[in-house]
Amino acid sequence: MALPDPIKFVLNWGRKYSLWVFNFGLACCAIEFIATSMSRHDFIRFGVIPFANGPRQADLMVVSGTVTDKMAPAVRRLYDQMPEPKYVISFGSCANSGGPYWDSYCVTKGVDQIIPVDVYVPGCPPRPEALLQGILRLQAKIADEAVSLRGGARPGPAALTAPPVRPR
Ligand code: SF4
Repeated sequence: MALPDPIKFVLNWGRKYSLWVFNFGLACCAIEFIATSMSRHDFIRFGVIPFANGPRQADLMVVSGTVTDKMAPAVRRLYDQMPEPKYVISFGSCANSGGPYWDSYCVTKGVDQIIPVDVYVPGCPPRPEALLQGILRLQAKIADEAVSLRGGARPGPAALTAPPVRPR
């Protein structure tokens, strides 16, 4: 059953302005994430709280850097530990598609092969302003969300008990 609009507005307002972030920093893009959290760019003013204690306390996972096939099951495991409702930002070309390492035998061609992604931020590396834009996009998406649909687990790629096997 869908909730009345005023209740939906209040719940989504609370969600979009209290996003505890779990930064899954895997390579150079993670430095830009840190820069965005510091005083010059200061994403806390948008209600984004950096450095959640762990995935169980996080609402938002930011995957920044190169995801390898070896690391992919860990990314999936930690995503599964996050409580609903949960969101993912793929930050940078490597997380989006493999980036400069797209043809490497050991690099996952985008974190969306492992977990559902809400917002993609392009760039190598993206500037902090790009992450701020991505956060605003995510908040706009949360504001429109149908609350009753987010109670259960989100559908995601079925794979990922084991990383994809590629010929060497
Ligand atoms: S997208 Fe570029 S800057 Fe970001 S992790 Fe990959 S190589 Fe590094």
